[in-house]
Amino acid sequence: MTISYDLSKSLNVTSSTSQIVSADTKSRHIHLPGTDCTIKQGVSLASLTTFRVGGPAEWYVAPRHLEELQASFEWAQSQGLSVTLLGAGSNLLVSDRGLPGLVICTRHMRSTYFDPETGQVTAAAGEPLVRLAWQAAERGLQGLEWAVGIPGTVGGAVVMNAGAHNSCTADILVNAHVLYPDGKLEIVTPQNLGYSYRTSNLQGDRRLVTQATFQLKPGADAAQLIATTAAHLKQRHSTQPYNKPNCGSVFRNPKPHAAGWLIEQTGLKGHRIGNAAVAQRHANFILNCGGATASDIFQLIRFVQQKVEQEWSLLLEPEVKILGDFQLI
Ligand SMILES: Cc1cc2nc3c(=O)[nH]c(=O)nc-3n(C[C@H](O)[C@H](O)[C@H](O)COP(=O)(O)OP(=O)(O)OC[C@H]3O[C@@H](n4cnc5c(N)ncnc54)[C@H](O)[C@@H]3O)c2cc1C
Repeated sequence: MTISYDLSKSLNVTSSTSQIVSADTKSRHIHLPGTDCTIKQGVSLASLTTFRVGGPAEWYVAPRHLEELQASFEWAQSQGLSVTLLGAGSNLLVSDRGLPGLVICTRHMRSTYFDPETGQVTAAAGEPLVRLAWQAAERGLQGLEWAVGIPGTVGGAVVMNAGAHNSCTADILVNAHVLYPDGKLEIVTPQNLGYSYRTSNLQGDRRLVTQATFQLKPGADAAQLIATTAAHLKQRHSTQPYNKPNCGSVFRNPKPHAAGWLIEQTGLKGHRIGNAAVAQRHANFILNCGGATASDIFQLIRFVQQKVEQEWSLLLEPEVKILGDFQLI
C-alpha cells in the first residue's frame, strides 16, 4: 500500500521565502524596556541545535522568566515579525539560510519545585529533561527514569510528547501553562493536547509552554531509581550513536516495522550525502560527520524517504522539525 501525501507537509517545511536572513547582517542589540533582556540580531543557530547546523536567526532572544517572555512576544508583534520557538534544539533541522523573524529560546527559563508529599514536580520550560530525571530519582520520585537519554527541555518534551522505554510525557503530565502571543496565559491538561505517539496539538502552534507539572510516585527507593535510570542511559549509549551531532530519531516509527529497521533493510546504513551520513549503529539516526550543512542533512532525509518508499511503498514521516527554506537538489 502506498501512503501518499504532500511531501512538503510530511517534511514540516516552513515555506516562507519572504524574509531570508542575510549572514552578513550587521549585528544590533535591542534592550527590551522594563526588563534585563536583550534581543540580538543575526545570532547563529548552529550552536543552539544538536545537529550543529543552521544559519542565523534574524532576531534572537532567550528570556529567563514570564515577564521577559511576554515582552519578547510584544516586541515581535510591534515589529510585525513571525515568531519561532526553540527549546534545546534537539529535534530541529534549521535551514542554512537561517530563520526570519524572532526566535524565542526557552533554555534560560529554569526552575524546579518538587513536592515530596504528593510526588508532583513543576518545572519551567527550559529545564533540561535529563537533569529532571536524575533529580527525581535522587528524591525517590518514580516515573521519569525513561527520560534520562532525551537531551531536550521540559517545554520541548510537552510539545513533542517525548518518550522512551515504553513511557512518554503524556503518561505523567498533570498540566502545562501555555502563553499565547497576545500575552494570555492558559492552563492545559493532557486531555486538551490531542496527545498520541510523538504528537500534540502544540506542534506548529503559536502557544509557548512556559512550565509543566508532572505526577511522579513518591516514596520509592532512590538507590533503585538511580540504578534504573543509569541502566536506561547505558542501554541507549550501547545502541544509539551519541558521539556525533544528531537529532535522535529522524523519522517517526510506522507500524509494523520501526523506521530504523526499514532503512537498514533498504541497505542505507552508512549512506552519505556531503558530510551527513545514516548512522551505522542505528539507521534511524543521521549524523553530522563534521562540517555537514543543513542542506546535506535535508537531501539525505529526502533520499532515505525515496528509497524506503520505492522498496516498501511507505513514506516515512520525519519526526524532526524542519525549519526554514530548503531546496531539493
Ligand atoms: C541524542 C538524541 C536522542 C534523542 N532521543 C529521544 C527519545 O528517546 N525520545 C524522544 O521522544 N525524543 C528524542 N530525541 C529528540 C528530542 O530530544 C525530543 O524531541 C525533545 O523533546 C525536544 O525538546 P527540545 O527542547 O530540544 O525541543 P526543540 O528541538 O527545540 O523543539 C522541538 C519542537 O518543539 C517546539 N518547542 C520547543 N520548546 C517549546 C516551548 N517551550 N513551547 C512551545 N513549543 C516549543 C519547537 O518550536 C519545535 O517545534 C533525541 C534527540 C537527540 C539529539
